[in-house]
Amino acid sequence: MALIVHKYGGTSMGSTERIRNVAKRVAKWARAGHRMVVVPSAMSGETNRLLGLAKDLMPDAHSAQAQRELDMIASTGEQVSVGLLALALQAEGMQAVSYTGWQVGIRTDDSYTKARIQSIDDKRIQADLDAGRVVVITGFQGIDPDGSITTLGRGGSDTSAVAVAAAIRADECLIYTDVDGVYTTDPRVVPEARRLSTISFEEMLEMASLGSKVLQIRSVEFAGKYRVPLRVLSSFTPWDIDLNEEARSGTLITFEEDEKMEKAVVSGIAFNRDEAKLTVLGVPDKPGIAYQILGAVADANIDIDVIIQNVSHDGRTDFSFTVHRNDFKRVTELLETEVVPKLGASRVIGDPRICKVSIVGIGMKSHVGVAARMFRALSEEGINIQMISTSEIKTSVVIDEKYMELAVRALHRAFELDGQAA
Ligand code: ASP
Ligand code: MG
Repeated sequence: MALIVHKYGGTSMGSTERIRNVAKRVAKWARAGHRMVVVPSAMSGETNRLLGLAKDLMPDAHSAQAQRELDMIASTGEQVSVGLLALALQAEGMQAVSYTGWQVGIRTDDSYTKARIQSIDDKRIQADLDAGRVVVITGFQGIDPDGSITTLGRGGSDTSAVAVAAAIRADECLIYTDVDGVYTTDPRVVPEARRLSTISFEEMLEMASLGSKVLQIRSVEFAGKYRVPLRVLSSFTPWDIDLNEEARSGTLITFEEDEKMEKAVVSGIAFNRDEAKLTVLGVPDKPGIAYQILGAVADANIDIDVIIQNVSHDGRTDFSFTVHRNDFKRVTELLETEVVPKLGASRVIGDPRICKVSIVGIGMKSHVGVAARMFRALSEEGINIQMISTSEIKTSVVIDEKYMELAVRALHRAFELDGQAA
């Protein structure tokens, strides 16, 4: 019998009726002989509601003191969830106990609202498991070195579940969610999208960082670092479906590359509408320029994504990069007031209406011409490519956002994902 972690999202925890169903499902696993740890999110809408209350009182809570209070407030959603779920399990006749992050030693750094887990003390969890209890632990939160409550960023319960699974060396971490697995792309954009029965950890990491919202990216990083077997599956199946069938459903994130042998070159298409493009025109072409431009942006704590520098003509070049769309105004101002005058560049132009579309697949390592096939599919649709970036297992293009859906559909077809057996 195995040591299993289940994670349930806000939708699964959305009402007492649904919590009862979660309890019945967990009880089914426990009665089959598995040792069970459960990590639920807050009830759906609850984190937004709590942060809304905070916003009423302080619209921009940016100071460290204010952010500390945001975490104090937001973390309560999960505290309610674990108590309710433990109670529901007891009502099902199970032995169950709930804990908040600090009670089981989930230690994080002190970056409020986006803290990172540093360690988990598994003693208490193990003792309860040994005593035959189901252990229910809050997602999304931990405690910093000062003892203040921290949260892990929106969607952070995924990361909590994987981190707990790593700490107790669970056999598998099952993420129950409102989609039934990882798809070749978002089925809302491409109805022909197919569920993948397996995806490699590397591909999942790319998909998560390129805009697929199935898992919080840090949870995937964690799973990779500690090699936690991770499965994404539907929380909408009836709780009493056959356990073996349930255990094989969804998408398994695997570390074995050869399991993918018969798979296509490209496994999925990711896209992201949250970006904006900036270009500094007429930059003198000399050492230190990239550093002076991007260093200023990084110093303002703004993430940079795709970067392009052109070859120079007449000793000058153009330098482009993308940032999150929310940062567009700030970065434009920063470049105009600080960077352009200092460098003696000509000016800044920008476009917040772009998007990034990416193809992802470990098959790209061993196949040539994959990028060319991508560019052909886009050209056949008359879509202009503004920027390109590649890595070993992905190629991304930046295009006008109005072509996003067209591009995703064209690529899904070009790489034969529509009809591929999962
Ligand atoms: N409740 C938190 C959120 O809404 C964490 C989570 O659900 O994963 O972001
Ligand atoms: Mg989530």
